[in-house]
Amino acid sequence: MNLPAAGLENELSAALGRGEISLHYQPKYDILRGRVSSVEALMRWTSPRHGKISPGVFIPMAERLGLINDLGRWALGEACRTAAKYYNPSRPTSVAVNASPNQLARGAEFAEEVAREIESAGLPFSAIEIEVTENAILNEDAQEAVLSLSTRGIHVSLDDFGTGYSSLAYLRRLRPGTLKIDRAFVEDVPESLESCVLLKAVINIGHSLGMRVVAEGVETHDQVLFLEHAGCDVLQGFFLARPMPEAELVECLRSGRIERLMSGEA
Ligand code: C2E
Ligand code: MG
Ligand code: MG
Repeated sequence: MNLPAAGLENELSAALGRGEISLHYQPKYDILRGRVSSVEALMRWTSPRHGKISPGVFIPMAERLGLINDLGRWALGEACRTAAKYYNPSRPTSVAVNASPNQLARGAEFAEEVAREIESAGLPFSAIEIEVTENAILNEDAQEAVLSLSTRGIHVSLDDFGTGYSSLAYLRRLRPGTLKIDRAFVEDVPESLESCVLLKAVINIGHSLGMRVVAEGVETHDQVLFLEHAGCDVLQGFFLARPMPEAELVECLRSGRIERLMSGEA
């Protein structure tokens, strides 16, 4: 799609109010528990004029235009409403929401806003996770946001791990509960010995620091076998399920399709 950026930018500022923004949800499968234990909320924009626009395009645009706080607030609220509709304490499935650098730069105020939103949906803090990228937590305010979320018991995942300005010092200091290894490390496993070694090393680092480790972008059965063998905790990717609208997700979880696929029954 080759569009003049200014046209898209004008459309984006009105998109939320026009109901063009929605959330899709992608399951994450917990290997030890043998079930989907979390779903990631991913924003979608369908413009009547331009069709589907990738978050890779409109999220950075929203950051630039100062719209990301409104969009992010909406996504969190919507994720909390969805989580509250289906929350089952005897089989908890958390919803992970992505937070962008501008939101995190608001520091403890952002953490407070997240906590308020979760509480007003009547959910325990464990029902929502916040995903942050390494590059988003380079400044002190963002680090304060992460620490404040964790202190309140809101789980933080470090997204796209290995692609940003990774610093092991941040891992030690901020102690996010989960490391999400970027798809780039998963894509040529098990063919590339180097990637296998790297992946295993990252899993070990995460575990040594007491973190859970998630692999993103799992697309093949061979990758599943390798990751299980390497001790990865959670798998997410097209092999298991693509991001999908709420109604489809509910049906997918109800049917146990992913659990059957992963136990080799499907
Ligand atoms: P992310 O948070 O790392 O999300 C994972 C991306 O990888 C998603 O792309 C997902 O659809 C895609 N993906 C999942 N499994 C596979 C796979 O097996 N193979 C491949 N090739 N891709 C896979 P998506 O939905 O296009 O989102 C892209 C990025 O946009 C996200 O990366 C996140 O950084 C950002 N984003 C999406 N929704 C939000 C949001 O609500 N707020 C913020 N701040 N950022 C968001
Ligand atoms: Mg994410
Ligand atoms: Mg990611």
